[in-house]
Amino acid sequence: MTPAPEQHSTTISGGTRPDLVVVARVVHTLDPELGDVEALAIRDGVVVAAGGRDVAETWADGGVRVIDLGDAAVTPGLVDAHLHPISGLELARGVDLSGCEDLDAVAVALAEAAAGVGADDWVSGWGLDPNVFGTTEPHGGVLDDALGGRPAFVMLFDAHSAIVSRAALNRAGIAGEREFSDASRIVVDASGSPTGLLLENEAMRLVESIKPTESFDERVAHLVAVLEGMAGTGITAGHVMDMHDDDAIAVLEAVEARGELPIRLRISPMCVPGMTDVEFDAFVSLQGRRGRRWAIEGVKLMIDGTIDNGTAWLREPDTRGESTASLWLDPAEYAGRVAELHDRGIPTATHAIGDKAIEVVVRTLAALPRTGVQHRVEHVETLPDDVLAVFAEAGIAASMQPTHCTHYTRADQTDNWSVRLGPERADRAWRIGDLRAAGVTVALGSDWPVAPYDARASIADAILRRPALKPHVAPVLPDQAVSALQALEGYTTHAFASIGAVGGTLAIGAPADLTAFAVDPLDSDPDDFAASAVLLTLVDGVPVIGADERVDA
Ligand SMILES: [Zn+2]
Repeated sequence: MTPAPEQHSTTISGGTRPDLVVVARVVHTLDPELGDVEALAIRDGVVVAAGGRDVAETWADGGVRVIDLGDAAVTPGLVDAHLHPISGLELARGVDLSGCEDLDAVAVALAEAAAGVGADDWVSGWGLDPNVFGTTEPHGGVLDDALGGRPAFVMLFDAHSAIVSRAALNRAGIAGEREFSDASRIVVDASGSPTGLLLENEAMRLVESIKPTESFDERVAHLVAVLEGMAGTGITAGHVMDMHDDDAIAVLEAVEARGELPIRLRISPMCVPGMTDVEFDAFVSLQGRRGRRWAIEGVKLMIDGTIDNGTAWLREPDTRGESTASLWLDPAEYAGRVAELHDRGIPTATHAIGDKAIEVVVRTLAALPRTGVQHRVEHVETLPDDVLAVFAEAGIAASMQPTHCTHYTRADQTDNWSVRLGPERADRAWRIGDLRAAGVTVALGSDWPVAPYDARASIADAILRRPALKPHVAPVLPDQAVSALQALEGYTTHAFASIGAVGGTLAIGAPADLTAFAVDPLDSDPDDFAASAVLLTLVDGVPVIGADERVDA
């Protein structure tokens, strides 16, 4: 699994001194020429030499900064191929409840959040797993108990429902059921009074709209905090799959006016149905706009919704008779836009979850002239054999989220996703192993804030096909497991290849984006790796996480 055991040392190109030397037990460069080394020399944000500890001493003479990571393993910086860090700011307000496994943990986390605010101030939370309520339907009572009459709004993990406290219901003037123009519902008890559970957008908006919004400066600080959190799990870059917010560019520019983005962002705005040609031209003209660590590149499209909500596009309806249509009322309009983008040399990434959705997308992409523009399909949740064959044959890349499988489905297929599909289609869940075996490029990611962004857990889950650190949970379709190297490639070389770029290695001349883990991802138990400390995250040769206390001058 670990390439090239013997040491290759290179001399520093140009003969000038590096400005940083990184030394570790092993550096997995993922570069076929270099293989594994022990040390890298970095100058101006670029890897300029690689070799053993002995040569590193010759590079480091005369006061060059050395970061000796001891027994750590270094990898190329991890790239999360599917993120929503800016649009996710609104959703990810307040306390992150995604790690809470029971109501007691939820109450503790909320009480901690409430301790920092005034008695009448709002408390917000997000990422709540409805399973903490056991067999009971989610309700707002837990908020009333934990927060002593404060107004509170907690989004459930799917972002399609929320629980709110009694005080929040009162402030919003919600006393019973109402009619909505979407599928929204105010859930009520037998006596007709609201339980605090609000379903879908319009119902949630009744309360969200009276919550104080984040100011621009708060959004800027919130984004930096989220991206620092990502860097703390080893992530050095992300592919952003929307640009919904009107102030997105202003937020990015504000961050770079004050300092640096903690990670690099490649942003693909979304092409939606019904754009006029004038709107489409203006949309396309955003391509190439950039700052120091962000750039608008590529276009996102969505052909269907989700299986859990009955909005995916399946060949046959799900067991409730749902998931029967494309989000593009005229799929030919979708194909037309993709062809125009392809002609202009713009790579696309299309959200396609149901078998029919994936089929239409890969057949559309396979029919394009082979001009070298790399296209990608996001999610790929239930994949029939005949469609998998087209993927491989046409050189289309996949972008998949291992934790969507391991967190939200179960091996016994009693979860909502599997029940809606039935056993035959549920047996085609997240076929990462089959796609890799067929030679398909598979980038991996989290879809944050839909799932937690921790890249270590995501890599472990791709190998284990169950949640990391939960050995008692049965794996989902263990035949679809990937090797540790394949999982790491999903976050490095394949992430780059999936957008038609070369990168994700620590080759000579590559950007010095790297991560140091206390536990080697290529030579350890995946659960141990999921719990590994991140000792250093370097972006552009500059430490984002770690380093200072470890520096030998
Ligand atoms: Zn997404």
